[in-house]
Amino acid sequence: MQKRDSTSPIQHYLQHLHDKYARLEDGAVATYIPELGQADPQGFGIVIATVDGQIYEVGDSGTPFTIQSISKPLVYGLALETHGHRHVATRVGVEPSGEAFNSISLDPATGRPMNPMINAGAIATTSLVPGEDDAARRLNLTGALASFAGHELGFDQKVYESERDTGHRNRAIAHLLRNFGILMGNPEEPLDLYFRQCSVLVTARDLAVMAATLANGGTNPVTGRRILQPHNTGRVLSVMTSCGMYDYSGAWIHNVGMPAKSGVAGGILAVLPGQLGVGVYSPPLDSKGNSVRGVRACTDLSRDFGLHLFNTPRVVTPALKSSHTGAEIRGRRLRRRGELDVLHRHGAEIRVYQLRGRLVFASIEPVIRSVIAQASAATHVILDLARVVDVDPASCRLLLDLADHLRRAGVHAHFTGAGDQAAFREYIEARLSAEGWSRLAEHRHLADALEACEHDLLRRHESAAFVDGDVGLGDQELCRGLTPGELQDLAARLVEIDFPAGAAVVEAGSASDSMYFIERGEVGIFLVNDGPETPPLSTLGPGMSFGEVALVDRDPRSATVRTLGPMRALRLSFEEFDRLEDSGLGHLRTKLVANLASVLAARLRSANREIASLR
Ligand code: GLN
Repeated sequence: MQKRDSTSPIQHYLQHLHDKYARLEDGAVATYIPELGQADPQGFGIVIATVDGQIYEVGDSGTPFTIQSISKPLVYGLALETHGHRHVATRVGVEPSGEAFNSISLDPATGRPMNPMINAGAIATTSLVPGEDDAARRLNLTGALASFAGHELGFDQKVYESERDTGHRNRAIAHLLRNFGILMGNPEEPLDLYFRQCSVLVTARDLAVMAATLANGGTNPVTGRRILQPHNTGRVLSVMTSCGMYDYSGAWIHNVGMPAKSGVAGGILAVLPGQLGVGVYSPPLDSKGNSVRGVRACTDLSRDFGLHLFNTPRVVTPALKSSHTGAEIRGRRLRRRGELDVLHRHGAEIRVYQLRGRLVFASIEPVIRSVIAQASAATHVILDLARVVDVDPASCRLLLDLADHLRRAGVHAHFTGAGDQAAFREYIEARLSAEGWSRLAEHRHLADALEACEHDLLRRHESAAFVDGDVGLGDQELCRGLTPGELQDLAARLVEIDFPAGAAVVEAGSASDSMYFIERGEVGIFLVNDGPETPPLSTLGPGMSFGEVALVDRDPRSATVRTLGPMRALRLSFEEFDRLEDSGLGHLRTKLVANLASVLAARLRSANREIASLR
């Protein structure tokens, strides 16, 4: 349990709220269950629990009291989990009755109670608690309530006996339900279980954690345990919304706007789906049976913290973080000058959409709109989910439908960074098989997908610039415009070396003494503090050179160059290079330096375009 942090403005606010209503003396403690009359009318606690398990509490937040009717939605959830909605619906409806909690609101024809929040409906729901015998059912019921709270819960034997011995009206309801065939067997059994469930002890803190569990789609945020499936959680919250506060339910949802449930012992559990749960305890009740201070505190909380469920003009943040073309951003592979030209001219065929946040209908819809609007000019669409927090089922479906649409239009669709999106993966595998998933999410990182798309682009726009195999000296980028004689003179000064995979050809920090022309294979450029798992900053392939920048300044190496597979290169030592002048080969030296300058200029331009597009 978190410590009370008095510096938090939230804690400060709760203290203020508590002070404000602690002096309110209206209402009366319930006495129709005699033992409840023993409650201390001064007891007052308020607790907020967030969906990530943070707890703010004030006053008597740890005072135990009986849960009473607040158990009803939780046991309804248990019944839904056990039997499914279809079966549960044969025993209890979901219509507000507009009558008091102990009313005998049964459908005149079927005898089915109107909803699970009135006693009749709750007794019917309790009869659905699973278990071989009484003892097993008791265990299952208390176990379920405990899992909502996140720990074992106590039991008030006196309150239980008091209600058991005086609850004639509930007894009458149970027998009536037996008459209509809503309860089977001896009606005293589910009735007894119902009295027991009402006498389970909770604190305002427990109520807040239970509420936060409902706010969190059915997973207890403190223990991390899933108690209800999200769709059942939605059903529970729905009946709380329409029926949770007795015949104050309409005004409550209008004023406070949170699904809630109150109990005659003075508890209120309120839920803001997706955000937080509230638990309040204060025994004096108003004429409708709701805690006087509880209602006031929740009303203030809702207004001051903007918790009204229906006062949410816009919660959705745009899912499209940025969109780029392949002319603007690049994979890791550095490109030769001719390749850069092709990518610059045709890069718009590659469209990259970087998504973020929570994908729900309203956030994904604008993305779909722009992808489709721009798809006619595209051959590749990459949807990068690396910054996505969550993909809801509707978005899973829409994203896959979008991929289908693109494929039919002749556009390749790729998903990157999707590996952590378990729901999305499950959805795709269910619809397309595991193979479909690996096809769509073939590339882990955006940079890998970009590289593959660039490769396809270069191949299709078959420019002379494109080379897909070994590159001899004559076709090296730095050897442009060299005469056969000059090539021969250069070749005589080079050493051909075969490097194995993973070899550090150049080490960051070491002295610079030579440069390399890559004939075959690939190398990666790694920064000094890159870990072993870090992908290279960039990669180079055949026809390109590395180590050549030091030719200009002779500074120590600024990065490590490691082979990404077997690699063959021609090594030119700076010593040899420096001797060119004296050997009467100044023209060769000049050409090499001029080529180097133009390669660096092309790379700089490309990098500038990329930086500009990221601004
Ligand atoms: N045990 C109580 C009853 O059935 C529960 C009622 C309530 O909390 N509203 O009367």
